[in-house]
Amino acid sequence: MSKQFDVLVIGAGPGGYIAAIRAAQLGFSTACIESEAYNDPKGEVRLGGTCLNVGCIPSKALLQSSEHYDNARHGFVMHGITADDVRIDVKTMVKRKDNIVTQLTSGIKGLFKKNKVTLLPGHGKFVGGGEDGWEVDVAGEVVTAKHVIVATGSHPRHLDGVPVDNKLVCDNAGALAFDAVPKRLGVIGAGVIGLELGSVWKRLGAHVTILEALPDFLAAADAAVAKEAWKVFTQKQGLDIRLGANITAVKVGKKSQGMQIRVEYEAGDESHVLECDKLIVSVGRVPNTEGLGCETVGLKLDERGRVAVDEHCRSNLPNVWAVGDVVRGPMLAHKGMEEGVMVAELIAGQAGHCNYDAVPWVIYTHPEIAWVGKTEQQLKSAGIAYRAGQIPFAANGRALGQGDTTGFVKMLADANTDRILGVHIIGTNASELISEAVVAMEFQASSEDIARIVHAHPTLSEVMHETALAVDKRPLHF
Ligand code: FAD
Ligand code: NAD
Repeated sequence: MSKQFDVLVIGAGPGGYIAAIRAAQLGFSTACIESEAYNDPKGEVRLGGTCLNVGCIPSKALLQSSEHYDNARHGFVMHGITADDVRIDVKTMVKRKDNIVTQLTSGIKGLFKKNKVTLLPGHGKFVGGGEDGWEVDVAGEVVTAKHVIVATGSHPRHLDGVPVDNKLVCDNAGALAFDAVPKRLGVIGAGVIGLELGSVWKRLGAHVTILEALPDFLAAADAAVAKEAWKVFTQKQGLDIRLGANITAVKVGKKSQGMQIRVEYEAGDESHVLECDKLIVSVGRVPNTEGLGCETVGLKLDERGRVAVDEHCRSNLPNVWAVGDVVRGPMLAHKGMEEGVMVAELIAGQAGHCNYDAVPWVIYTHPEIAWVGKTEQQLKSAGIAYRAGQIPFAANGRALGQGDTTGFVKMLADANTDRILGVHIIGTNASELISEAVVAMEFQASSEDIARIVHAHPTLSEVMHETALAVDKRPLHF
């Protein structure tokens, strides 16, 4: 007899493993299928998906190491601290990153055991069934379940004619595992990965050139934040970012000829060539739906190849759900996790909730960039009347003490109701500071609410407080 479960999750990334744990907590017999070993030394399947293995966690580990190095070389001088002969051992840095990944991915195996989630290693594929039970093939064995949650995630988009080998020409997986600092690093795509990984290798001494197709920099961010980020990244940090670049060819040559990679591109009416020793291709990600048996059972995809779902992550098929990168919305781990919880709770007949209007974005450059809600451009084009406040970190005692005064907090509130519509931060610890704004938006708070909350002194959070006061044109320290 085939194995039977109440809930079967396909994919053990943040969307999938969280959905599985929550479903098990709610009393369902639950299994989770995962196919990837992610370079596991024993070749065993690893849990945690892109995020833990080749995404959020390893990239943040390298960002931290490279920031320490940069501080030791440049940042601590203002504090009167200098060190001679500061060196970077890339192998140790990468090993530390690998150890963190191993610790966390094994931790999820432990969480599966604790919550009695059955791990089914192998590739999952719908082979039949219907409302009363779906049949999914896993490594040649058919498993049935009343509910299936598709959480198959995404993989990097590659460009035609750009041969990614993850040695010289890399996507995120290769770019997180360099064994030395390249002299000249090329990056295609000035999005989140391009900026984060470009920053890592720039801080470690590479000359980094980023080629971006769009004429605008960080088009998704608030324009004031994008403008400040451009100034800091290009003028202060020396990232060479070239906008409006149309890549025409990438050629991998021989080192003996003095050149490893040659990127040909057009910008304006001119043709250009970028020569580099390593190239990162970070031009977005593609949902994983191939080989899933969607056509066998009639699982509908949307125009971008994602599983088509409603606001509660229900697909067109009864009791088939989908969460995370494989569905509409931002490709962010925390968004996938919230969807996983929501779906498990909906299956249990509970309310289930994911507030898509209050999903924070963070870019872990230095300074960090974080936002939640609408940008000023979005409010203008929607014709929504708003009031804005903006306060620089330079006016904050804690930021001065830390020697980290770049950037600002900007708040946008409805002109009639004062309800907060968006908060945009560029500055140190923006990733942590944004949480206050997320809570405020979740509870539909006004700028006046934030203005009346006691913020500890001296903290960076006081900039949020001052910004709320600035919306009403009554800041106290600026
Ligand atoms: P995934 O994490 O992609 O997991 C899906 C899993 O399903 C994979 O392990 C895959 O092997 C498995 N799978 C697929 N098909 C099958 C099948 N048929 N059978 C069995 N298993 C299958 N997001 C953030 O919020 N913050 C960050 O700081 C951040 N940093 C990032 C940095 C990088 C370099 C990258 C690449 C991404 C980053 N992201 C970040 C995005 C984040 O990693 C994704 O949004 C998140 O991993 C999506 O989770 P998921 O569960 O939907 O899919
Ligand atoms: P992205 O969508 O953030 O950026 C891709 C960039 O490449 C865009 O600016 C796009 O205009 C550009 N581009 C596309 N085609 C191009 C071409 N042919 N030539 C030059 N430029 C081109 O994608 P990404 O950086 O690959 O990251 C993928 C996703 O992973 C992100 O959208 C995000 O959801 C997630 N991620 C999140 C974080 C975070 O939360 N801190 C970090 C990394 C990745």
